[in-house]
Amino acid sequence: MGAPVLAARWARPGGPRILTAAGTGRREDWMGEPACRACRGRTGHVVLDLGEQPACDYFPRRDDPGPDPVYPLQMWLCSSCGLAQLVADPTVPEEPRGTEPAALVAQAADAVNRVGGAGLLPDGARVAEYGSPHGGSWLGLLTRRGLKPVADGEPAEVVLDCFGLMHAADQAAALEERTARVAPGGVLLLQYHSLGTIIRCGQWNALRHGHYAYYSAPALAAMLARNGFAACTAWWFELYGGTVLLAAGREADAGGGPDGAVRSLLADDARAGVRDPAVLAGLQHDAEARATGLHDWLAAEQSAGRTVLGYGAASRAVALLLRAGVDRALLPAVADASPAKQGLRMPGTDIPVVDPGQLAAHRPAAVLVFLTDLLDEVRAAYPEVEAAGGRWVDADALRA
Ligand SMILES: [Zn+2]
Repeated sequence: MGAPVLAARWARPGGPRILTAAGTGRREDWMGEPACRACRGRTGHVVLDLGEQPACDYFPRRDDPGPDPVYPLQMWLCSSCGLAQLVADPTVPEEPRGTEPAALVAQAADAVNRVGGAGLLPDGARVAEYGSPHGGSWLGLLTRRGLKPVADGEPAEVVLDCFGLMHAADQAAALEERTARVAPGGVLLLQYHSLGTIIRCGQWNALRHGHYAYYSAPALAAMLARNGFAACTAWWFELYGGTVLLAAGREADAGGGPDGAVRSLLADDARAGVRDPAVLAGLQHDAEARATGLHDWLAAEQSAGRTVLGYGAASRAVALLLRAGVDRALLPAVADASPAKQGLRMPGTDIPVVDPGQLAAHRPAAVLVFLTDLLDEVRAAYPEVEAAGGRWVDADALRA
């Protein structure tokens, strides 16, 4: 390996330009042709362009008047290998640590049970985990099953990546590192939010700085094949609308090839059009429709004299509120359980982030939940909202 990370440098129409990222102390120059983060291919399409966006993990202090620095946010689909990816990321990660949603914790336990049931988590096996900065570690669960965590860089029979790989700017190097650590006869477990889900559910705001890749089964199969690996089985979970856990091994170890679960996953993704730029470009229409819908709904609530608050100061909320042009006149506060986000405001707008304990004091007619997976959890955690006549509303569906 050792190929330079050309993918972080990107061509914009009109030739080279310099983008100064004020506020982050970093400067990114944009020049040269695009190169795929996985296969280094140079042909592809920009399929989603969200324009200039603030870094979704840069939460300014509430008294910071802005304007917040903004950066282009685009998704590119590689024509060679089919990997959907973030074009460029001049931002620096600085997300205040969020809380781990109960849905993520529950899914981890479910997944470990299912993988264990398939015989892929033998007692005493060594395990290496590549985690996500957003939490969701499986190590506690695996240790309790008798697996033995190894030190950084050491080989293991079970190499696990749970939403970690998407955070690597150089996708080829990151997957090569993971596959190289799989001990002979071992398994690589990759869990990812599926691009097919993003298309099917119109989740355009899954695109964010810091998340460099949006995987489909065909694209991951191609990445694995370049490392001599092949998917052998897979599981599907409801998390984030559709999350996949893929188990892969060395092609040399593979007995019967991909099982029925992998074959139907590949077929489903192909049917969803994961490699078709025209299909992915539909996310652009989803973005416009969702933003307009939210703005009109909030304006109608305001006209009717009803107070609406938000819940979940996540990246998806940042992009949605910004595109919808929502400020604190329409949405006076977004509640978030993370203590690290208290006293801050949403990037790119003047909406403060508040403690969820303050929700009931505003007597909201509705609380918009920006993360569908949190809906059941917050409804149970803050019964005072419904007790005071308020309702919880899924911000994507705009219905309770
Ligand atoms: Zn590629």
